[in-house]
Amino acid sequence: MSTTETSIKSKVAAVSSTPLAERMKLTLNYDELTNCMRCGFCQAACPTFQETGYEAASPRGRIALMKAVVDGVMEPDKMFQEQMDLCLGCRACEPVCPADVKYGHLLEQTRDAIEEKAAEHRVWVKALRTTLLKHTFPFQKRMRILGGGMKLYQKSGLRWLARKSGVLKILPVHMQQLEKVMPEASTKGVVEHLGTFYPAKGNPIGTVAMFRGCIMDVMFTETNINTVKLLSEAGFDVVIPETQNCCGALQAHSGEMDLAKDLAKKNIRAFEAAQVDYIVSNAGGCGALLIEYDHLLHDDPEYAKAAKHFAEKVRDVSQLLLEKGNLPALNLLSGKNDNGQSKPVTVTYQNSCHLKNVMKAGNAPRHLIAKVADVNFVEMTGADSCCGSGGIYNLVQPEMSMQVLDHKMEHAKETNAHLVLTSNPGCLLQMQLGIEREQLSDKMQAVHVVDFLAERILEKQ
Ligand code: SF4
Ligand code: SF4
Repeated sequence: MSTTETSIKSKVAAVSSTPLAERMKLTLNYDELTNCMRCGFCQAACPTFQETGYEAASPRGRIALMKAVVDGVMEPDKMFQEQMDLCLGCRACEPVCPADVKYGHLLEQTRDAIEEKAAEHRVWVKALRTTLLKHTFPFQKRMRILGGGMKLYQKSGLRWLARKSGVLKILPVHMQQLEKVMPEASTKGVVEHLGTFYPAKGNPIGTVAMFRGCIMDVMFTETNINTVKLLSEAGFDVVIPETQNCCGALQAHSGEMDLAKDLAKKNIRAFEAAQVDYIVSNAGGCGALLIEYDHLLHDDPEYAKAAKHFAEKVRDVSQLLLEKGNLPALNLLSGKNDNGQSKPVTVTYQNSCHLKNVMKAGNAPRHLIAKVADVNFVEMTGADSCCGSGGIYNLVQPEMSMQVLDHKMEHAKETNAHLVLTSNPGCLLQMQLGIEREQLSDKMQAVHVVDFLAERILEKQ
């Protein structure tokens, strides 16, 4: 054996012996890695590649990095982890891939391995992740306490004091702007308002169970209430299982797979008892994990079958209203003022990446919006590409998140829309943040599609 061969072999042996590389060999689906034929069709769809122009910040580049680690020809060094962290997890690379590479699953498996073996987060990022992902979102009672704390801050004068005193200036600029656009929080969720059962209006055409979410239920309680009422209006009996919890999406996307699986199992048990036709989500990010519970638990002998059964029933609320709802009863009409005159409004739509790329239902909200009279719908350039929210991405990767958002807002401004409609709480906050950054809040507002429809349907009764 030549000296060079010996040197390469010893280098490969040294690289492949790192705990992270060993873990990745065990967890990554090698067939999926080799399915990538390096055509590069995914690059135009990738926001981080578009922003940086770096191969390593593209789907093809990231897959090549993963494969190089698994093959033992590259050490999973700091640069490797940075590129995995920089990915938005938007999965825009999947629908355009001719080889049907499941990039999202590869990313989750890689992040899971990194979390277990080699995560090197900045101290504040680590603290934020642990507090939110492990100790807050999974617990309904703690979410209520968080909602209560935020409500106290918003209503007691503390917010006024914090803004007036300038103490918020210790926060980064984007956090100061985010503080301004946070919705009114609540200590009560949808169940506390409507109970665990809400009957269909008229003869029921089916029974659905509502997934209320963790953040949705304390920060967007009104949207949850409107979701139930719209479903009822469309002919569904609505059940809201009380023992459900956070879907696990934020945990799964951040490499906390064991925690995500535990949350999924609790939800499967909670919804199993309800015996419903569909399980409905009003948040693209949550729905996308709920619909993949079968993948998440595919190797769990106890839960695999139940997870498949659960996943088959999951629908986004817009999709269900459009495809199965009693639309004549919905009687979608325009908003009217007190004199019965119509109020024309210009709207645009920012798609939820996970609603489009995973649930494959990104056009359902567009079709519903189109049914509302007196709406001037203006399609936004790049409406289907990520807004930079990405779960907690805008908190832990603020530079890239704001870069993506600022480009998004250039297109939003071109529409001259009064309303930017979205189907996910993260997108809603991010778009409202963009509106704030552009100082457009007197002209433009981000609104959930459900609230937009509810205002035009429910308040007529
Ligand atoms: S489009 Fe698919 S096959 Fe082509 S480079 Fe991207 S991931 Fe690989
Ligand atoms: S998930 Fe989004 S950001 Fe990540 S590689 Fe795919 S397209 Fe790019």
